[in-house]
Amino acid sequence: MKTTSLLKILVILLMIFFICLLNIRLLGITNPFTNKDYIVKTYEGKNGNIKYPYFKDYGLDKKIKEYVLDLSKENGNIEFQLNIVDHKYLSILFSLSNYKYKSYIINLNNLKEEEISVIFIKNGLKEYGLKTKEMLELKYPAFIYDSIYNNQGEISYLIKDNEIIVYFSNYDIKPSVNEPIFVRLNYHEIYKYLKIDYVLDENYINDNIYALNPNKKTIAITFDDGPSEVTKDILNTLKDNKTTATFFMLGNRLEKNADIVNMVLVSDNEVGTHSYYHKYLTRLSKKKRTESINKPTEVMEELFNIRPIYFRPPYGNLTPKIKSEINMPIILWDVDPEDWHYRNAETIKNNVLSVIKDGDIVLLHDIFPTTGEALKLLLPELYVRGYQVVSVSKLAEFKGVTLEASKAYRSIK
Ligand code: ZN
Repeated sequence: MKTTSLLKILVILLMIFFICLLNIRLLGITNPFTNKDYIVKTYEGKNGNIKYPYFKDYGLDKKIKEYVLDLSKENGNIEFQLNIVDHKYLSILFSLSNYKYKSYIINLNNLKEEEISVIFIKNGLKEYGLKTKEMLELKYPAFIYDSIYNNQGEISYLIKDNEIIVYFSNYDIKPSVNEPIFVRLNYHEIYKYLKIDYVLDENYINDNIYALNPNKKTIAITFDDGPSEVTKDILNTLKDNKTTATFFMLGNRLEKNADIVNMVLVSDNEVGTHSYYHKYLTRLSKKKRTESINKPTEVMEELFNIRPIYFRPPYGNLTPKIKSEINMPIILWDVDPEDWHYRNAETIKNNVLSVIKDGDIVLLHDIFPTTGEALKLLLPELYVRGYQVVSVSKLAEFKGVTLEASKAYRSIK
């Protein structure tokens, strides 16, 4: 055979090979992209550097470059994460400054941009939306998820093999939050609604849970002089903000407010005693004093089958002798916004925020409606300042302090 004929055959074979490749791509049988088939390039924009993937594929790279040029209007450096989803889609997430995100889903067979709905079966999108909502409510305080439900913002995604990470940015959250807002939607939660191939993690546990961290700044909020109607409002606010507190109840109010005591008992909050009569212990006879200290415990055991674990003397009034008569840890306070005096939510909130520090115990009273209103303002502000609000027991646990009977504590550090 002549060399020219051999060359002809070779050229024809090569042409057939390329036509096949093209067909495979066009038919969507497979596409040449994998999670490793790109290099990272940097676009040096006026406002910052943008990292982006470069696949050495004319069409795809052109598409990505359009996004990069669009993102170059944003301030600050931009990073990206990507995943090739089920050989069909490129899911790409750009992380901007200030916990903002922008994501795209590109169909690799026709290079069209897709919506998140493309990976779900019919009606799956709705179920996915409900699940996302459920996860948001588990992970964040109400002021965050309420703002997301009630405002327009931007939802971005990274679709991984085992989960979708959903990011929320540009939402008008007040007070403003200095952290990324996102939930991880593991396919264990939504696989029934997926149209794509997925991976189910072994030993999956939902990590969209508001988690306390012993190393974060932590304070205890305490309520005196209740229970009252205001206590109900306060219980709701504590729950909305994923916080807990300690209620120092007055012995002589327990019986007539039994339903409210029970509401506190079934909640995650804890109960202490604030004496029986709310009288200066130093001004009472020995007999009356012993009664005021011990009777609330008897009432609680009889009516509610519990024992209060902490004591708070009315007005913080104590002597060494009285201390020795109290067979429980005595919890005082070091932050007093004087809610009984000011009766103004904004003032009470500011009085706490201006002095608060790690390990403090805050004194409030669950008998004034304005205190209930103040708590609604205060707890979100404490959250965005990085404070966890817990009961006295939890604060002691986090600080590694064993609270002792007859000993008084103003703060726990
Ligand atoms: Zn009091």
